[in-house]
Amino acid sequence: MPIDQVSILRMCGACRHEIETITVKKDNMRLFVDEKVWCELCQSEQPEVRDVAGRLETIRTEQRHYPVSPTSGPPVLTTRDEA
Ligand SMILES: [Zn+2]
Repeated sequence: MPIDQVSILRMCGACRHEIETITVKKDNMRLFVDEKVWCELCQSEQPEVRDVAGRLETIRTEQRHYPVSPTSGPPVLTTRDEA
C-alpha cells in the first residue's frame, strides 16, 4: 500500500460490528464523522464510528505474541536435559 494511503475501518457505533474497510488518502482521512450507517446486526441505522484498520491489526498482533505467563512456553530446556 502506498505510504499516503490509509485503511479506515467503518463500524457500527452501537455494537462495533465491522461494516467495511475503506482505503482513503491520508490527506482525506476523517476519523470523526457525523454519518449514519446501516448495521445488519442492529437492523437499524446507527452512528458510524471509524478507526485506523492498520492500528487495530497491530494491536492484535502484539497481543498474540505477548506471553500469557513466564512459565507458559514450550519445555525446550527440559527436553534437552533428558536427552
Ligand atoms: Zn450494530
